[in-house]
Amino acid sequence: ADRNAGQPEFLQAVTEVMESLWPFIEKHPRYAEQGLLDRLVEPERVVMFRVSWVDDHGQVQVNRGYRIQHSMAIGPYKGGLRFHPSVTLSVLKFLAFEQTFKNALTTLPMGGGKGGSDFDPKGKSQGEVMRFCQAFVSELFRHVGSDTDVPAGDIGVGGREVGYMAGMMKKLSNRADCVFTGKGLSFGGSLMRPEATGYGTVYFAEEMLRTRGRSFDGLRVSVSGSGNVAQYAVEKAMSLGARVVTVSDSSGTVIDMDGFTPEKLAILMDVKNHLYGRVGDYAARTGSRFEAGVRPWHVPVDVALPCATQNELDATDAATLIGNGVLCVAEGANMPSTIEAAKAFEAAGVLYAPGKASNAGGVATSGLEMSQNAERIGWPREEVDTRLLQIMKGIHEACVKYGTRADGSISYVDGANIAGFVKVADAMLAQGVI
Ligand code: NDP
Repeated sequence: ADRNAGQPEFLQAVTEVMESLWPFIEKHPRYAEQGLLDRLVEPERVVMFRVSWVDDHGQVQVNRGYRIQHSMAIGPYKGGLRFHPSVTLSVLKFLAFEQTFKNALTTLPMGGGKGGSDFDPKGKSQGEVMRFCQAFVSELFRHVGSDTDVPAGDIGVGGREVGYMAGMMKKLSNRADCVFTGKGLSFGGSLMRPEATGYGTVYFAEEMLRTRGRSFDGLRVSVSGSGNVAQYAVEKAMSLGARVVTVSDSSGTVIDMDGFTPEKLAILMDVKNHLYGRVGDYAARTGSRFEAGVRPWHVPVDVALPCATQNELDATDAATLIGNGVLCVAEGANMPSTIEAAKAFEAAGVLYAPGKASNAGGVATSGLEMSQNAERIGWPREEVDTRLLQIMKGIHEACVKYGTRADGSISYVDGANIAGFVKVADAMLAQGVI
């Protein structure tokens, strides 16, 4: 831990994984050979760099850029870029570590990586966002490539930002592949990529509910966040007959006990994706209730889908949800539940899926985008959606295989950690100490 002092999120993610793995490794000691665990918790490479750009007032701004190349054991480094003032080395190391297991769970040949910057896109003009993205890629480009490292979007990086970065990548590399996934449809993007993480989370939750003979139909659902993942989680849950009663952002929560409709979702998407506004603006336009500075977890629901950010649901929130009889919690975000909250859900018998299992549909569809690019052909929407559904069902089966306890209950935490680990570890053992 000394080497990682001051990196609480990274230590939190490693602790959570190691707690699951330890009993498994005691039964399968070959996984403790070749310094495997020591190697697995150390990123293969960390790149930190200066990003200088000029704002609309002619002032020079300096941000810090990062790319964490965690593991190439089973394929090129793969993972998103996050632009948010809360970005630190610790946050990106935790995300790259988690990504390695998640990508293994998809069964596609992708290693793990993550990157980003402490740049805050909020309140920036279109020109400033473009100049920042270009400045960021003017360093990143020398570290990535379609068989080396394939970045994508994450918080603060959507279609617009990926477009600017892919454009700069193309210019600097003189190659049309642009490396990124999450590209626009007109230059190599995949149908269904925007929907994939949110839809995939709901597909996974549906599999979880099925183990108890339930479905989304008629259930009350809370969603946190209102970005890419949240929007499509709302859409899919709604289409399966659920009543979605919340969305949020860092300013507060919208509560709408009548439930979202396709019309209301279209307004939310307009506010968030085109006007770059706040959920309060959405509430004002639809006449729904807005609670400033509050998270959604006090609202009584059957299913909770945290889709905003890490550590947004703590032990107190978990106790409230459990007290209100929550059946299922499936994470669309990465590590939204604190370790204590996750333990509380499992102890209470709530169906609880960690992000690395339930939100893997996004990166899986990025993997499908890479396949389509390599084939130089785009698949129809139905084909991508069918494969996404199959991949989410496959991840659920892997969790059941490795996470079923002696009493027949399922720990999705143990299942996801062990299933992801086994694939990466087997590849590392086969390739020797490198
Ligand atoms: P977006 O930037 O589209 O949306 C992020 C949402 O989370 C916004 O509503 C944002 O509100 C909110 N949020 C961010 N930080 C905070 C904070 N500190 N406190 C409260 N709310 C916050 O990002 P995505 O939807 O892409 O990502 C959401 C989560 O899903 C992240 O954890 C990401 O890592 C994870 N994820 C995303 C994937 C993808 O394909 N996009 C794939 C797998 C996981 P505000 O605007 O106020 O900041």
